[in-house]
Amino acid sequence: MLKKMLIVFFILIFTFVQSQDNYEVNYDLEKNYPQNYFQNPLDIPLVLAATFGELRTNHFHAGIDIKTQKREGLNVLAIAEGYVSRIKIQHWGYGKAIYVTHPNGYTSVYAHLKKFSPKIEAYVKKQQYAKESYEIQLFPKVNSIRLNKGELLALSGNTGGSTAAHLHFEIRDSKTEKIINPLLFGINVKDSTKPVIQSAFVYPLDDFTSVNNSNTLQKLQFTKQKNGDLLANKVFASGSIGLGIKSFDRLDEANNKNGLYKLEVFVNGQKYYQHKLETFSFAEGKYVNLLVDYSHKYYKHERIQKCFVVPNNKLSIYDDLINNGIISIQNGLTYTVEIVASDVKGNKTKLKIPIVGKEQGIAVTPTMAAGNIELYNKSGKTHYFKRNEFNTISKENVNVAIPKYSFYKDIDFEFSYKNGIANIHNGSVPMHKNFTLTFNVSSYTVAERKKLFIAKVKKNGQLSYTYTKRKEQKLYTNTKKLGNYKLASDYVKPTITPKNFKNGQWLTANKTLKIRVNDDLTGVKNYRATIDGKWILMEYEPKTGMLTYDFSDKKFIEAKHTLKIVVSDQVKNTKTYIATFYRKK
Ligand SMILES: [Zn+2]
Repeated sequence: MLKKMLIVFFILIFTFVQSQDNYEVNYDLEKNYPQNYFQNPLDIPLVLAATFGELRTNHFHAGIDIKTQKREGLNVLAIAEGYVSRIKIQHWGYGKAIYVTHPNGYTSVYAHLKKFSPKIEAYVKKQQYAKESYEIQLFPKVNSIRLNKGELLALSGNTGGSTAAHLHFEIRDSKTEKIINPLLFGINVKDSTKPVIQSAFVYPLDDFTSVNNSNTLQKLQFTKQKNGDLLANKVFASGSIGLGIKSFDRLDEANNKNGLYKLEVFVNGQKYYQHKLETFSFAEGKYVNLLVDYSHKYYKHERIQKCFVVPNNKLSIYDDLINNGIISIQNGLTYTVEIVASDVKGNKTKLKIPIVGKEQGIAVTPTMAAGNIELYNKSGKTHYFKRNEFNTISKENVNVAIPKYSFYKDIDFEFSYKNGIANIHNGSVPMHKNFTLTFNVSSYTVAERKKLFIAKVKKNGQLSYTYTKRKEQKLYTNTKKLGNYKLASDYVKPTITPKNFKNGQWLTANKTLKIRVNDDLTGVKNYRATIDGKWILMEYEPKTGMLTYDFSDKKFIEAKHTLKIVVSDQVKNTKTYIATFYRKK
């Protein structure tokens, strides 16, 4: 009995010591996620071009971007056994993407693919021909397309919104669809390089706060210490302040500026703020615009991440907050503030900021609150819009309607309508919901109306098409982008240019038909290609305007064939191209 008890006791001790040890080594890795269950999705060492949770406009990067040696066509492998639960092909976004559901409760996602493995490719093409569409979304039945761990599922590519060849890879919780940092599953990436803190800022957070004799955003001066940590010059302040940094993480073997994993602030040794990019839901993505100083990004083109939480920010990534990370500086006291930036491997860079509480005269006239850079640009007539009310403005034939809770705070909203341009505030304000911009076009003829669209007027004066809907005598659009808009017309047809063949040729040796399509103002909306009257699948790559037909899709019995392509833009200007070619196989 005693012997048994001793054994149990030793097992308990051993387990306790071991888990303590793991706790010390890496809390996140051991806490929630299965280790060594998933393998790498590529059969090359993983080098990243982007980390999980990188701060982008309107969203966090939902996966990791894995470099593919600057080329397409690398083998993409199932990271564990499972079945293909979803296949999506879209012109932009993820391009060609596969979702694999695994028995352990997670789903892996592989995007920007060039081509699927033969068995998946055959299944997808059959559906594309049935639906006569390149863009498609499929949900294969459970276990109908099974994959073993390490089985080839696709070739890597550059489809969709991708701007260079890479694999975008995600791991999601299959039930909640929450995305989880793939590096927490033991998928290994070399990283012994510390994050870089490029600059640091102090935000005075009310009218009476002073920071170094000012009430506006203050950039700090700092120097690098021998141990690699940073030390800022003494800051004199009184009142409520918040901190912000510009920072990135570099991994080994790559030059890309990646995102941090964790950001913490300590005040006199006590943690005041932490956010961590472990997991989040797609629904909370827009709140990234409150973590980042959105107006500073708009005016100064640099991305400051705030180390304090502003009102109405519903992000789930925060922990251990004291007073939302806002530090109250009292006259006569001194503070040691430390900002710690970490990557997922635990490499850290620390910035120490000594703060002396000292009441000062404020040299600059107080603004509403520092960091409200939109006030720099306050001009013309503004309307005070409350966040919790429906707001609308009309002038002549223009109406702007803004739903409740579109803004994160009440704002002085600019609006004017002059020389046909509707100035709808400016892009410095993040929007949580779409507003509706409506132009009444009853003064135009019916024929003119058909070619009209709503254009965004960019800073450089260029026009860009905004998805325009039509109802009776009105054109309208739903968008989150504030700025300048006008009505414009498009009477120009798209162009269609054959790239690898000429009319009347024998094409027996060709593997593909390539045709470039282009439309200048509103862009290509529809394309339809047929050979001898039957629909053919042309894969459309909107970045290059290339349409590609794969001759292996169909065998030809007769020799002479007619190719017909019809392309329309957003306002239905339509171009038709017809060619004859010869091929007998
Ligand atoms: Zn990506």
